[in-house]
Amino acid sequence: SDQQKLELIKEAVKSYPDFPVPGVNFKDLFSVLQNPPIFAILNEILVKTAKQIQPAVECVVGLESRGFLLAPLIALELQIPFVPIRKKGKLPGKVKSHKYALEYGQDIVEIQEGAIKPNEKVLIVDDLLATGGTLNAACQLISQVGGNVASCLIVIELLDLKGRDKVSSPISSLIQY
Ligand code: AMP
Repeated sequence: SDQQKLELIKEAVKSYPDFPVPGVNFKDLFSVLQNPPIFAILNEILVKTAKQIQPAVECVVGLESRGFLLAPLIALELQIPFVPIRKKGKLPGKVKSHKYALEYGQDIVEIQEGAIKPNEKVLIVDDLLATGGTLNAACQLISQVGGNVASCLIVIELLDLKGRDKVSSPISSLIQY
């Protein structure tokens, strides 16, 4: 069943307490990608979940950097464009930026101009939802360029950080801690 498959993925995710700083329990998506049968199951569930979204999504946005490992798999299967959102200064050509507050200081995310069509129905994909700051910034940027965030698809949700409360678009997470 899907529930058993999700349990297999959860068992394959390695945790690293106090990485990269004390107090963070780092969930390593790469441990899943290094396990081909489990990676295949993850891909199958991501694609199936993305195909079920109604009305159909028209573009898949991946968030730097581990979102880049998953979003293109979905985009290819659905035969729709993959579009990256990156930190400032990494994308060539004309870009649109969105500045957002961090716990300490601020950060800027960017998307290439014209990558999203007016009112396009967008699916955002990332590996993990923690405080929700990253996902909310991506949603804001997509709205700013005229896109419509239909849904967000996250592999791992850290429930105690309540990141989903920061985001106004629907979010599906596959496994939760
Ligand atoms: P946040 O903006 O706090 O929701 O953080 C989400 C982003 O930071 C995602 O792109 C994750 O890749 C990364 N991240 C945050 N916390 C963790 C964690 N505990 N384990 C792995 N990645 C994390």
